[in-house]
Amino acid sequence: MNILIVEDEAEIADLIQLYLSKEGFNCHICRDGNTALERFKEIQPDLMILDLMLPGLDGLEVCARIRQQRLIKDPYIMMLTAKGEEIDRIIGLSTGADDYMVKPFSPRELVARVRAVLRRSLRQGGQNPSNQYQTAHFTLDVDRRLAYRQVASNKSEAEGAHNTDTLELTPLEFDLLTTFMSYPGRVWNRTQLIEKLWGNDFFGDERVVDAHIARLRKKIEPDPAAPSFIKTVVGVGYRFEDVPAADRVS
Ligand code: CA
Repeated sequence: MNILIVEDEAEIADLIQLYLSKEGFNCHICRDGNTALERFKEIQPDLMILDLMLPGLDGLEVCARIRQQRLIKDPYIMMLTAKGEEIDRIIGLSTGADDYMVKPFSPRELVARVRAVLRRSLRQGGQNPSNQYQTAHFTLDVDRRLAYRQVASNKSEAEGAHNTDTLELTPLEFDLLTTFMSYPGRVWNRTQLIEKLWGNDFFGDERVVDAHIARLRKKIEPDPAAPSFIKTVVGVGYRFEDVPAADRVS
């Protein structure tokens, strides 16, 4: 796994590199936002560790520009932030980041999070022999990491014709939807979703789940305020509901 570390404080960057290299990850370091975008193109990393405050373009801008590129293989992006920096925005993950850590963090914690990303991307491969999940409204191609949605086409709604939209999901949103679609109807509490997506060694705030659910709903629900697919189960958590693909009206 290729990792790009974007951090202007040399000691922190070197420490991260030291710990991740020991785990066998292939690390590259750069120290400012513009260089990060150039190096990103060359290296095509699986994971970026991206400091928020950087010379030139800051971490939020770098993250936004990478997400705009609509890549086939989107990287996981973990933001680093000091306490007091735009932490609310990052927790809300309106930035397109998949995860965040607050400085000072322990390098072991960082390693645990990176391992969780790796486990998650390996595990996603093995759940279903065809590596496709399909319901009446959604199709996930897990190997190619593509998600599609069926929408009734305006012109020929009367004839029941449908268009297929490609959904623009971040890696974490894709994994979340895969988790839901792999067990339709199952009720997940936040702890179970965290275990599934981050692993048991997650440190931090369970609200991160709600933030990701809110973002995913915005992308897949016709009316995110009254979700028809990702239902809230009051006092418990969330459940994905859709009609089986066989019953799709077409
Ligand atoms: Ca910095």
